[in-house]
Amino acid sequence: MAFFQDPPRLGNQYDDDPILASFLARGLEGELATIEPELRELGALSAELHGFQLADRLNEPVHTPWDPWGRRIDHIEVSPLWKEAARLAARHGLVAAGYEDRLGPHARVHQFALVHVLGAALDVYTCPLAMTDGAARTLIESGNRELAERALPRLLSRDPARAWTSGQWMTERTGGSDVGLSETIARRHDGGWTLHGTKWFTSATTAEMALTLGRPDGNPDGSRGLALFYVQVRDDQGRLAPGISVNRLKDKLGTRKVPTAELTLDGAPAILVGGASDGVRAITPMLSITRTWNAVCSVSGMRRGLNLARDYARRRRAFGALLTDKPLHADTLAGLEAEYAGAFLLAFRAVTVLGRLERGVATDHEARLMRALTPIAKLTTAKQAVAIASEAIESCGGAGYVEDTGLPQLLRDAQVLPIWEGTTNVLSLDTLRALGKGGAVEAVVADARDHLAGVRDAGLAAPAQAARAALDHAVVWAQGAMSDPARLEAGARRVALTLGRSLELAYLCGHAQWCLDHGRGGYAAAAARRLARHGVDLVDDLDAADTRALTS
Ligand SMILES: Cc1cc2nc3c(=O)[nH]c(=O)nc-3n(C[C@H](O)[C@H](O)[C@H](O)COP(=O)(O)OP(=O)(O)OC[C@H]3O[C@@H](n4cnc5c(N)ncnc54)[C@H](O)[C@@H]3O)c2cc1C
Repeated sequence: MAFFQDPPRLGNQYDDDPILASFLARGLEGELATIEPELRELGALSAELHGFQLADRLNEPVHTPWDPWGRRIDHIEVSPLWKEAARLAARHGLVAAGYEDRLGPHARVHQFALVHVLGAALDVYTCPLAMTDGAARTLIESGNRELAERALPRLLSRDPARAWTSGQWMTERTGGSDVGLSETIARRHDGGWTLHGTKWFTSATTAEMALTLGRPDGNPDGSRGLALFYVQVRDDQGRLAPGISVNRLKDKLGTRKVPTAELTLDGAPAILVGGASDGVRAITPMLSITRTWNAVCSVSGMRRGLNLARDYARRRRAFGALLTDKPLHADTLAGLEAEYAGAFLLAFRAVTVLGRLERGVATDHEARLMRALTPIAKLTTAKQAVAIASEAIESCGGAGYVEDTGLPQLLRDAQVLPIWEGTTNVLSLDTLRALGKGGAVEAVVADARDHLAGVRDAGLAAPAQAARAALDHAVVWAQGAMSDPARLEAGARRVALTLGRSLELAYLCGHAQWCLDHGRGGYAAAAARRLARHGVDLVDDLDAADTRALTS
């Protein structure tokens, strides 16, 4: 009989996560029972949608600029899976749950647990959801009641027929990292404002609204001169507002289901959200939220890749045994699990603190921690997500490289995670800025120490010590480099990643001890030991002359 290879399959994505349930049990205590049935339902749905994703693989968004009678319409047709994702996201409150009162300060943990379990099945529909969540938070913090009353009931709706999504239009041709160079001009018009310029990357241009930056005519150059504007992008019939045209959808490496457009704004009506300057500061809440989503989507994608790789290893035989029984293959997968476990706890620490801050129950220490934790979690987990996606594909051998297995998409979609919402370097510099303010360094160190304080198991002593030593090294190095800005900047990525990885290890040690104490098994402890062996301290002084020789 001819041999046919079995495809990897997904089981329940809630039950098949080796750390999510113990994390929720620890943080939510009795409340887990109230949300677990829905998480399990979504776990089953996430696996079921995998078949839909494969069937929908070649459906990509289509932009139709003109109707047959010559009218400009800029219609964007999204994939069938995206339409289903929109319904599911609203119904299960993937944004709304974070704002609802049922779980109080745990609302964000609840919301992001839902996102974690279902997100990887939605073909990056998480992108517009992240921006929607960010827009809601920004409008709440802006204090603009009129706009909040207009948009929040839609952004936070659980009714698919009423729910809106939001775009975030920041990047222009002049720069995404350096938005201070933005060229879009805002002009006063009939008591309101109109925008004139080009927005170079606008994801999910199907959104009903957007928050964007423009420079009121006459304002100074630089980021301070930009103001934050609300744009009603589409009306109730889905028609694009006047003064906005879609130049084209970008042809991208990944996130191919996401319609990412280049837009021309030529008199697009806009509403000032706050003051007529300091827009970058005003949009900061949006970035904090989208970066948190990025971290959760990174770990959600890692879990998806690892579950496929694990299942494949239980089906595929080579050299007389299942791959899962081959010591080297098992060793490879174990290393990936350790990276996942650390990344999961870092992302969800950011989620936990975010929820506590929003509900006004955060300690001073958590408030000081948050500013640094968000960029650290985003940049660290995004890098791990790309590495894990690459390894997960390799773990499936040649099939991993074949498009209609659906596996290559894991890597293509992961590759955007270190780019959008701030690249690794940009967020490393942001981390240094955050550390320079208001006791953030002490808060990061104290948070690690708090999580390590109860660690007693002898098998966790070495990883706990590695986390402490790496953190201390990063802090001492950064303080020592303060007097030499070029040296400090050159080392920023190594410092930020060291902070990220050592926080991961500290959180893992703390969680591992809890799991050992509560009969939750040895997965987290094994992950802590393995992550420590991978190395968490990347701080180093590399020779600036060598850098010049290598790059000039
Ligand atoms: C699929 C996709 C969708 C996107 N969707 C949106 C969207 O909806 N809305 C939106 O506003 N933007 C969006 N973006 C844009 C994205 O946020 C930017 O591309 C990103 O922030 C980087 O900006 P840039 O492209 O201008 O790169 P650049 O700023 O030109 O960066 C190039 C390189 O230089 C490095 N670099 C830059 N400055 C420094 C520095 N000071 N020190 C060291 N290194 C530095 C960066 O790390 C990067 O590696 C999207 C991008 C992609 C790929």
